[in-house]
Amino acid sequence: MSTIAVVGSGVAGLTAALEADARGHRVVLLTKASLADGSTARAQGGVAVALDAADVPRHVDDTLAAGAGLVDAEAALAVCGAGPDALADLLARGAAFDRAPDGALARGLEAAHSASRIVHAGGDATGAEVVRALVAALRATAVVVREDAFALDVVVEHGRATGVRLLDGEVVPADAVVLATGGSGQLLGRTTNPSVATGDGVAMALRAGADVADLELVQLHPTVLPDGFLVSEAVRGAGAVLRDASGHRFLLDVDPRGELAPRDVVARAVARRAHEQGRPVVLDATALGADQLAARFPTIDAHVRSLGLDWSREPVPVTPAAHYAMGGVVADVAGRTSLPGLHAVGECACTGLHGANRLASNSLLEGMVQGRAVVRAVEDGPRPLAPRPGWSPSEPIVVTGGTDTFARAELQSLMWDALGVARTEDALAHAATRLATWVPPAPTDPKSAEDANLLVLARATVAAARRRTESRGAHQRADHPRTDPAQARHRVLRREGA
Ligand SMILES: Cc1cc2nc3c(=O)[nH]c(=O)nc-3n(C[C@H](O)[C@H](O)[C@H](O)COP(=O)(O)OP(=O)(O)OC[C@H]3O[C@@H](n4cnc5c(N)ncnc54)[C@H](O)[C@@H]3O)c2cc1C
Repeated sequence: MSTIAVVGSGVAGLTAALEADARGHRVVLLTKASLADGSTARAQGGVAVALDAADVPRHVDDTLAAGAGLVDAEAALAVCGAGPDALADLLARGAAFDRAPDGALARGLEAAHSASRIVHAGGDATGAEVVRALVAALRATAVVVREDAFALDVVVEHGRATGVRLLDGEVVPADAVVLATGGSGQLLGRTTNPSVATGDGVAMALRAGADVADLELVQLHPTVLPDGFLVSEAVRGAGAVLRDASGHRFLLDVDPRGELAPRDVVARAVARRAHEQGRPVVLDATALGADQLAARFPTIDAHVRSLGLDWSREPVPVTPAAHYAMGGVVADVAGRTSLPGLHAVGECACTGLHGANRLASNSLLEGMVQGRAVVRAVEDGPRPLAPRPGWSPSEPIVVTGGTDTFARAELQSLMWDALGVARTEDALAHAATRLATWVPPAPTDPKSAEDANLLVLARATVAAARRRTESRGAHQRADHPRTDPAQARHRVLRREGA
């Protein structure tokens, strides 16, 4: 029996905690806000699962195609193949997914999927149902749950992780630490992510000396309302279209798949057209009608209407915003990292599954699969991740230094300008120079601890974006517009001196 400290209570952390408890381990679940805070509860569209065995290779192919030449094929095979079992576990834990009239799971279609394989709950409230079911299951276990417990750092002794240091200085000792801290959308300000998504786990891993990769690969979601609320791809899957200020369906000029082209293609086209016309692009869901919009997308429908818009009658303005971090702590599907005893699961991990552009609805799936698999890896003992083909040797980066204080909003707008839709060496160099002058605040409360993490992550992300001198998936360089086959590898970084 091991003592496992799980940091984070989204789909990945909750699944890991439940699985570890079921396998007889002592588990402490640390989460910096309340259990339900995180991206998981916001997830709308659903979970991509190949329910028929024959669909698994197609799901893998779609994942590879969306990922722009950077998907780790082994990770894709493992995650897509484990989907049905992971979903069965989730259903057994009490999650109620939407059913077709014949009782089978209802399946939706999303961008860049060649088949309808998105299972969903409450229409467009999948994440809320996942969290509800997993939290209810957790209440019946021996897992020690600590809300408002801000994990500051991984404790490293003799080259392995031995616990977690909390903001108040307390050390939670553990045989294994599982980071499940989610994404980092708050780095860019304009984001669909919740306020807790400040990349803490990646910053903790960097400070601990673990490898991180692909930080430059930040997925923008193309259809976000002006207030940051996401309109799921499933709405386009159901037939909504994007129009420019002249009412033209411009995406058909860009890609034969139109509105269901991969996210990076759609996000870029939306940003470009809005810039050209000086007016926002609109999402036209009027063909779906009021009844279908309310029945299939109740959460989005209620939100759109709360803004005083009737989207069954008129198109609504949308814009791209930071949505998902493809990069993170280098890990395999079982969550092993380069640091023995440290594991990373869910969005904070970089398994290579998403390549340079995540396929819609593959992230809840990854969290479910990794959350189960990580417990077996812990049981295997603390050993580092073996080197893998397609991953570069780690390069040193400097994430410390600086003297000036900064405001979070300043950092966010600097990062959006440098990393938003199209990147250039000039803008990235400007951001790097500015970031180098700022000093991380002393972590005296959650806000200052998050700001310190955001600065570490910002420096590493800008360094990563400057090093990838090509355009690929979510990483579009105006000064390097071509994809360079020689750069089709995961770029691994490690804190200098680690
Ligand atoms: C609006 C929206 C819609 C989405 N829709 C879909 C979808 O339909 N399908 C899909 O597959 N994906 C979707 N995604 C992406 C998906 O929801 C996330 O990638 C996934 O839920 C991440 O799960 P996670 O467990 O890794 O992290 P999260 O669910 O974000 O949980 C992270 C947890 O870590 C905690 N934490 C963070 N830092 C610390 C710290 N320092 N100390 C202690 N605790 C900490 C947080 O409080 C939180 O509990 C969506 C995302 C958003 C934002």
